[in-house]
Amino acid sequence: MSAHAIDPQPLRTIFERGAPGRRAFAPPPLDVPAPPAGALPERFRRAVAPRLPEVSEPELVRHYVRLSKRNFDLDSGFYPLGSCTMKHNPRVHERAAALPGNARLHPLQAPARAQGALELMHGLQEALGEISGLPHVSLQPSAGSHGELAGLLLTRAYHEERGEQRTKVLTPDTAHGTNPATVTMAGLTVVKVATNADGGVDVDDLRAKADSSVACLMLTNPNTLGVFDANIEEIARIVHGVGATLYYDGANLNAIMGVTRPGDMGFDIVHFNLHKSFTQPHGGGGPGAGPIAVSERIAPYLPTPLIVRRDDGSFDLEHDVPRSIGKLRGFQGNYGVFVRSYAYIRSLGAEGLREASEVAVLNANYLLARLRALGVTDLLPLAYGRLCMHEFVLSGAPMKRELGIRTLDLAKRLLDHGVHPPTVYFPLLVDEALLIEPTETETKETLDHFADAVAEILREAADDPEIARNAPHTTPVRRLDEAAAAKRPVIRQPLGASA
Ligand SMILES: *Cc1c(COP(=O)(O)O)cnc(C)c1O
Repeated sequence: MSAHAIDPQPLRTIFERGAPGRRAFAPPPLDVPAPPAGALPERFRRAVAPRLPEVSEPELVRHYVRLSKRNFDLDSGFYPLGSCTMKHNPRVHERAAALPGNARLHPLQAPARAQGALELMHGLQEALGEISGLPHVSLQPSAGSHGELAGLLLTRAYHEERGEQRTKVLTPDTAHGTNPATVTMAGLTVVKVATNADGGVDVDDLRAKADSSVACLMLTNPNTLGVFDANIEEIARIVHGVGATLYYDGANLNAIMGVTRPGDMGFDIVHFNLHKSFTQPHGGGGPGAGPIAVSERIAPYLPTPLIVRRDDGSFDLEHDVPRSIGKLRGFQGNYGVFVRSYAYIRSLGAEGLREASEVAVLNANYLLARLRALGVTDLLPLAYGRLCMHEFVLSGAPMKRELGIRTLDLAKRLLDHGVHPPTVYFPLLVDEALLIEPTETETKETLDHFADAVAEILREAADDPEIARNAPHTTPVRRLDEAAAAKRPVIRQPLGASA
């Protein structure tokens, strides 16, 4: 920046804007009698009024618009964040979610007066059951990881009812971090299973570790290496053979919708990430949903209430389920998410979903081929296999050795090319990993631009590695201390603000 440069948008918190008494909104005068003094018992009353932002509506709007422009989101550019499926969120879904009957429905509305909403949720359950090949669905879990927890609690209930004490959960070493974390939260023990040379489960290692103390195998297929495990039927036989359940981490469903189904592969439980495969906007902590679908033998333990269709055709909430693990969250789940995902499934239909998955796989393989054609894979070789499913993992180890820049440097320099970095340093078993998932909604031009940008960064680094090492150069903020950002949140209500 030159000496004369002025920052036109200095970054301030909402508390540093405005003035005492300034308001964005004035409620209408009270048109009912005011409550008598002391109506609220003393112990429930605040000693000090909360300190809230005091800003005008234009200040409020500008504050959030400025913040949004400093961020890189899916609407700013290509966002090939492997494993997380950042695909386009069709805007027509917002219209459906904003319909007053959807947006203003109270979560405690009596089922008899919420028939449309219950019908939509019942329809979504049926669609997810069909997509997964597992007919019994609960929409309750709020995220993929919450679905994992639900799945392990179901597994525990299933074994407990059979009088069995099973404590181990097998997970491959390619598993997403939420898998082992969930196992621990559910009070069970993680046992790692090795990966074979093709990027699939090492079946011999699995056989050696599968015994009557194993409660479950958690697996995603295709896995986070972008590899479809062709041994899945053999794996299912081994796991079922020792009486354990098979859990499918459905975060990679975008590769297989309408092509194959976890239920047909032998899985007992699957979670869906509606905010990944089914177009609910995500990132930045927005609401998601992680419904689960289960097989016949797991169905009796599903969370309550169940959404059911009565004999007279009406829809209802069923609370009387004696063997249920109980409730997992307040109310019925994130209803707005259900509306968007239902709209997506119904507008595409079975054929459309299959096409989405086929194009997702095609786009990933096209991008991989482009990177090969440009010589990028000489310095960033494909970690496993030759073709991929909907995503693929490159290893930046040769790039680090030859050019002296790390995968993190490459990722940061991509921001200067208007591209959000792919996932980095995951899966852990690949040195200097770069996990790329383009998704089906990107054009050939966008994929070409990405490949050209990576090739350009490598050429540039051969001349001067410092450019990538100090990147990004064109973003509102430069390189961040990511560990500190995660561990020490700084945006909070000022101290002394509330009693
Ligand atoms: C995203 C993801 C999860 C966790 O899902 P959340 O909805 O983020 O909790 C689990 N496994 C894999 C492979 C994922 O990509």
